[in-house]
Amino acid sequence: MSHSVKPQNSTRKLIRTTEELIAAGLAPASQQEALAEVAQHYATAIPPAFLDLIDQPTDPIGLQVIPSPDELQVTAAERSDPIGDNALSPVPGIVHRYADRALLKPLLVCPLYCRFCFRREHVGPDGGVLDDAALENALNWLRTHPQIQEVILTGGDPLMLSPRRLGHIMTALSAMPHVTTIRLHTRVPVAAPERVTEALMDALESDKSVWMAVHINHVREMSPAAQACLKRLVRRGIPLLGQSVLLRGVNDTEEALEALFRSMIAVRMRPYYLHQLDPAPGTARFHVPVVEGQRLLAGLRGRVTGLAWPTYVLDIPGGYGKVPLGPGYVEGPTTVRDPEGTPHVLDRL
Ligand code: SF4
Repeated sequence: MSHSVKPQNSTRKLIRTTEELIAAGLAPASQQEALAEVAQHYATAIPPAFLDLIDQPTDPIGLQVIPSPDELQVTAAERSDPIGDNALSPVPGIVHRYADRALLKPLLVCPLYCRFCFRREHVGPDGGVLDDAALENALNWLRTHPQIQEVILTGGDPLMLSPRRLGHIMTALSAMPHVTTIRLHTRVPVAAPERVTEALMDALESDKSVWMAVHINHVREMSPAAQACLKRLVRRGIPLLGQSVLLRGVNDTEEALEALFRSMIAVRMRPYYLHQLDPAPGTARFHVPVVEGQRLLAGLRGRVTGLAWPTYVLDIPGGYGKVPLGPGYVEGPTTVRDPEGTPHVLDRL
């Protein structure tokens, strides 16, 4: 988008509609018709915390949340359920891909809607909340599958639940003897840190091993409010993992990735995964080829602490699972390259 109007960030409300986007200076009026069509397919939400971070609609924050007419272009490589959730769902709200763990998706609401989201055809403000009976059914599925040791609360975003409902789910999971680990995947600490209240953190209390994976793609998302929120969670004893997606125009340089991963370490968050973009419909503008991603990570090796070097992963389209993408350093049976790329032939490898 060549539009370069400085957004009027003084508004403090959640932006949801095409009219609000145009009024806030985030999209030109000439795109009204195309954006209205985009809105028929995909939800939009830009919360005040993110709106405050946008300097230009095409900057690394704006690109992630402002809809574009390009989203109407679906390429041959793209599909509506890129990682195959639907085929792996035994009951509503559960996805069972790996033997020892399962996803529990109690809602499909998010604090914002990423324009590159892999579940973009399903997430939104109006849908996907499991009612009491459906939630009980999903919890019963977990209760009756003793091989499930880890439950991953995702959605949507589980921190969009009320403390009461989240507490109910945490209590139910904590009472399952075979569940050792509860992991929450969320964007709330950066997108709506004000939601992480004492009551919400009380709801996360459990004797189980509780982890939180926070989705952050650019260092600017690590605002003072986000940092304060993450530190509150750390003080509650919750280990933090950073999850990012490699995105064209957002974090596709060594400098951007280094700053992002270092900012995570600074709040005691371990960069966990750098995801290759999933081929969801209308997301081609964000695609970075794997060879480029490998080069970026290789460029960081040796330059940043190993703590700040996540695993670069691909969720193989179709639901075949997640695999690391390298870069690799071993070549043949006895040759290894050092971080500068120089090969070393060893007597034993
Ligand atoms: S927060 Fe996650 S689930 Fe929600 S829109 Fe972004 S990528 Fe999708």
